[in-house]
Amino acid sequence: MDLSVMLEYQDLDRKLIKLESTLLQSEAAREYAQNKGTVTSAQEQVGKQNREAGEMIKQMDALIAEYEALEKELTEMEGAVPEVTDLNGAEFFSRNIQKLINQLKNLSQEIGKLSSRIVEMNQAHAATMSAGKEAAKKLNASKARYDEEKAKLMPEAKKLQAEIAEIEKKCTPRFLDVYKRLRKSKIPVVVPLQGGRSCGGCFMELAGDAIVRLNGENFIECPDCGRILYKA
Ligand SMILES: [Zn+2]
Repeated sequence: MDLSVMLEYQDLDRKLIKLESTLLQSEAAREYAQNKGTVTSAQEQVGKQNREAGEMIKQMDALIAEYEALEKELTEMEGAVPEVTDLNGAEFFSRNIQKLINQLKNLSQEIGKLSSRIVEMNQAHAATMSAGKEAAKKLNASKARYDEEKAKLMPEAKKLQAEIAEIEKKCTPRFLDVYKRLRKSKIPVVVPLQGGRSCGGCFMELAGDAIVRLNGENFIECPDCGRILYKA
């Protein structure tokens, strides 16, 4: 393929890249990205809160079951007291009843603590939900502004894309493959050999065999940076 085609292709593509970055650096795009981040983190937080709430409810169920079992045990033990006739037996029952009552008291405290944690969690969840909704509203508004900004640039972008598509027909697959891989990270992608031995992109000096190869082809890939290297 002709050098002039490579350079024309790059020239058109750089205009397109410039348009893309104009859009990405616009106030609207920045706001859009920021709001997207806020919404995502609210969603993550709601998910986390839901998981924690589920855990707490499970714990609560377990505590209540434990409480009920102890209560039943206590009722049974109290029911058995009138049948006790000897002093030792009475002491045993009294000790155990007291122990059960203490256990129930502790459990009831634990249940109380857990239930206030659940109330707090519900409040935090409601707050996150409302912040999330607010952020989603903002996101929609900024998306609309971003789309407007994009729409302004679209006619020019479409024109460039059509021109690029036309010139692509004259490009070799190998050129397009390398170019498209580097177009965002190594601008310019197509560079001249400098001073007869150095890459015009990364300035590394080429080995003799690379220079020999370049003499035989219309471009080589720089062994160091991968750019498309031509002999000016
Ligand atoms: Zn290079």
